[in-house]
Amino acid sequence: MTSAFEEQLRAVSLRVTRPRLAVLAALRDHPHVDTDTVIDLVRTDHPTVSHQAVYDVLRALTDTGLVRRIQPAGATARYEMRVRDNHHHVVCRWCGAIADVDCAAGHAPCLTASDDHGFVIDEAEVVYWGACPDCLPRSEGTR
Ligand SMILES: [Zn+2]
Ligand SMILES: [Zn+2]
Repeated sequence: MTSAFEEQLRAVSLRVTRPRLAVLAALRDHPHVDTDTVIDLVRTDHPTVSHQAVYDVLRALTDTGLVRRIQPAGATARYEMRVRDNHHHVVCRWCGAIADVDCAAGHAPCLTASDDHGFVIDEAEVVYWGACPDCLPRSEGTR
């Protein structure tokens, strides 16, 4: 069951440990969760894993590219396992709900900069802000 995760860890030269496997499983089942939620999810099944261990695992997984860290302005950092496909996110201003949005147009970087200033651009990160279906009624009362 965990063999895919073990292969992913070995592919980036990380030792296979129980906390690492637990964090990967949590992120597979719950994309776009913040650190506190990851800790809760991991400790539900593995009560002996410390907060610090989860922090360390998230950093190692992010550094090696197995996990993507996203941080919409004003929100806490979230983590997900969907990496390297240059997908974007739609974020609810009201409740912070996040959903994946595929590349706006074709392949990465998918958006052409109106002026690239001579840079070679390989990624465009777009955050679409708005109100999710649950929050739409609330948001309309205040516009
Ligand atoms: Zn919402
Ligand atoms: Zn995502």
